[in-house]
Amino acid sequence: MPPNENPLAVLEDRHARPLRDLRISVTDKCNFRCPYCMPAEIFGEKYPFLERDEILNFEEVERLVRLFVGFGVEKLRITGGEPLLRNGIQDLIVQLRQVGRDTGADLDIAMTTNGSLLRRWAKDLAAAGLDRVTVSLDSLDPDVFHQMNGERFGVERVLDGIAAAEEAGLGPIKVNTVVQRGVNDHLLVDLARHFHGTGHILRFIEFMDVGTLNQWKMDEVVTGKEIVERISAELPLEPADANYRGEVAARYRYTDGGGEIGVITSVSSPFCGDCTRARLTVEGQLVTCLFADGGIDLREPMRSGKDDETLRQLIASTWTNRTDRYSEDRAGLIQIDGTTPKRERVEMYHIGG
Ligand code: SAM
Ligand code: SF4
Ligand code: SF4
Repeated sequence: MPPNENPLAVLEDRHARPLRDLRISVTDKCNFRCPYCMPAEIFGEKYPFLERDEILNFEEVERLVRLFVGFGVEKLRITGGEPLLRNGIQDLIVQLRQVGRDTGADLDIAMTTNGSLLRRWAKDLAAAGLDRVTVSLDSLDPDVFHQMNGERFGVERVLDGIAAAEEAGLGPIKVNTVVQRGVNDHLLVDLARHFHGTGHILRFIEFMDVGTLNQWKMDEVVTGKEIVERISAELPLEPADANYRGEVAARYRYTDGGGEIGVITSVSSPFCGDCTRARLTVEGQLVTCLFADGGIDLREPMRSGKDDETLRQLIASTWTNRTDRYSEDRAGLIQIDGTTPKRERVEMYHIGG
């Protein structure tokens, strides 16, 4: 059935937010050990990552994406863990492109990656139909890079990955930097200078209390306002309009025409009111917030032979009952020691960013 004939199409949640984007985690494995996401002391050699049959296969992902597209989803983001560790990931992109052709939807397909394997895969990803990549890079300084991303790779490898993505036409490339006070915040201007004038868009992300494994404290957060002030003091910036409703990054452009940066202010200035994103975990749970304590299992119904209509109803009831707005509530939850209460939360490497 074409999407606009679907009686359930265009879902809105309890705060009138439409379902527009789907982030798909394709692996729980990663070749980095960023302490704020997968601390090396916990994710050691013996860590029990999911078995192959526990994670969705590409046919299952494609089937679900088709249903989400039927509800008006147009933006897909492939993430992880490190998505380029998933064998044959380019085949999934080919399948997702086909969903776009079959449904007439103009799908935007992007990927968030740590960049370490982009030199190997960028051309294949572009040929498969990937539109764009976002590459995470927290510092250009080798020591700070190791401190924030682990010891296995160096910063040159990520920069070369960015170059490979550009050569393959996977731009404009967004570069994501998580900012932690006392760790990499003194080097933000270096990053800004490096990407100024390149056409790549550097986006600074306020450190978040996502998952349960990082030792988040409010005093480690550098606000977007402070980040913009610090960069603007060296490379003057002015605010720019959002490209579309629900854009997560607030945009600032260099007054000298050297391009733009973004700040993602999930802590200091949350944007839950415009949050149109659903997340599909690597094991097939539908999660409606980055800070959720769990999700709705879509894998079991698929594997026990339920039809598309049943799955559609599950997705629809989950979204229409959604009330999430964790980041807007966070300010009221911060305790005297600067932490937020420990409770069950889906881990970042299961749901992607
Ligand atoms: N491995 C890929 C990567 O790093 O780009 C994709 C998955 S990673 C979980 C997605 C994004 O989440 C990355 O840009 C990462 O920096 C960001 N991230 C992870 N933990 C975070 C935290 N505690 N606060 C803010 N951003 C975080
Ligand atoms: Fe891996 Fe990305 Fe998490 Fe770093 S942020 S450990 S690269 S999944
Ligand atoms: Fe969306 Fe949840 Fe983040 Fe708010 S806290 S913007 S609802 S993912």
